Amino acid sequence: MVELRYESTRGSAEPVSFSQAMLNGLAPGGGLYVPTRWPSYTSRSAAGDLAAVASDVLRDFFAGDALEAELPAITRDAFSFPAPLTSLGADAHMLELFRGPTAAFKDFGARFLAASMARLPRDSARPLHILVATSGDTGGAVAAAFHNRPGIQVSVLYPKGLVSPAQERQLTCWGGNVSSFAVRGAFDDCQRMVKQAFADAAMRERYELSSANSINVGRLLPQMSYFAATSLVIWNAHGAPASYVIPSGNLGHATACAWARRIGLPIDEIVLAHNANRTMPDYIESGEWRPRASVHTLASAMDVGDPSNAERLRHLYPDIAELRRAFSAYVIDDVAIRTRIRIGHDEHGQFWCPHTAAAAEAFARHKPRGAGRWVVVSTAHAAKFPEVVEPILGQAAPVPPALAALRGQGPTEEIEPTLAALSAALH
Ligand SMILES: *Cc1c(COP(=O)(O)O)cnc(C)c1O
Repeated sequence: MVELRYESTRGSAEPVSFSQAMLNGLAPGGGLYVPTRWPSYTSRSAAGDLAAVASDVLRDFFAGDALEAELPAITRDAFSFPAPLTSLGADAHMLELFRGPTAAFKDFGARFLAASMARLPRDSARPLHILVATSGDTGGAVAAAFHNRPGIQVSVLYPKGLVSPAQERQLTCWGGNVSSFAVRGAFDDCQRMVKQAFADAAMRERYELSSANSINVGRLLPQMSYFAATSLVIWNAHGAPASYVIPSGNLGHATACAWARRIGLPIDEIVLAHNANRTMPDYIESGEWRPRASVHTLASAMDVGDPSNAERLRHLYPDIAELRRAFSAYVIDDVAIRTRIRIGHDEHGQFWCPHTAAAAEAFARHKPRGAGRWVVVSTAHAAKFPEVVEPILGQAAPVPPALAALRGQGPTEEIEPTLAALSAALH
């Protein structure tokens, strides 16, 4: 297999290796990295655990990269917890992606990124420093994934007083190589400080800076793995391709599923469940891309008004008619989310997080064809959203042990929302 390189969606920059695309995060000029060509995956074997399938499916994406030989070790390291398909009545399955350390699917991408970065040959004079701005969930998954990785420092910036107490504990409980900073500002200030740090010559001299946000191709590729693994299981059981309903915000998940279908995995329909942030559903309907300010909803991890990965989807399907054939999309408001959380409990005896409930509602509206080969994706454990779920069901979702362990309130330093304050605070 010849080397696979990654180019910008905006076409301007020189293609780079996987490792370089991962370290850069964003392509120069602001585009997102996408493969320069598509590998072809023809095996229909569903044998092996998730790590084995992941390393098989991703092999061609690592072709010629410095990390190629490490891929099996990376997937074993990252995918240390399962992604089971459970039953959702007679019609469908649920894909449970919340069995990781912070009980949301972002653990898969964050852990894969950490396992990859930890294996890169490094310039010991400048430590690798991961800077993350978080509005809540991403920071916890990234901190958990990089905690105790030798030679890598992590700084998490979050808006003081604007994350929930449970989220704050998940951001600050680590210690060691993970530092957390409560910024006296909003999430946008945190994000601006990270961007300023990347553009600052003095910072770049001190550290090799990298980001871990969700547009990093090192977080996207691993998300293809469980779509691949489950589509093969369904293919072998039904002799037909699988279809997915995906709770969507920044559209990383949707992109990973579309990429898996593009390389030949047996995937048929992809249905996007959005909350009231309806930029993507409106685009599919009107053909006009109109990003807008995000609105707050119960499914807060999907509160994105200008989804970054739409750029990758439009690159894959430049023609709007093709894009319409590739995806269906539904807008699920908070009233419908609440109702569906109740149905999940009454009819299925399950606790659904608001994002999962949005997907279950979109599935019901889609009136799907092909019983048994549909998969509704569950992106987080309901226990992460007690303030939403408890008032609806009158009881709390049982807390999984991994989440219960993230209790300790660790040290956090309060800083002003400026690059100078961040620079002074970094050790
Ligand atoms: C991030 C997130 C989503 C949205 O995923 P995208 O890849 O951004 O579309 C959905 N559900 C949960 C729980 C999340 O944390």
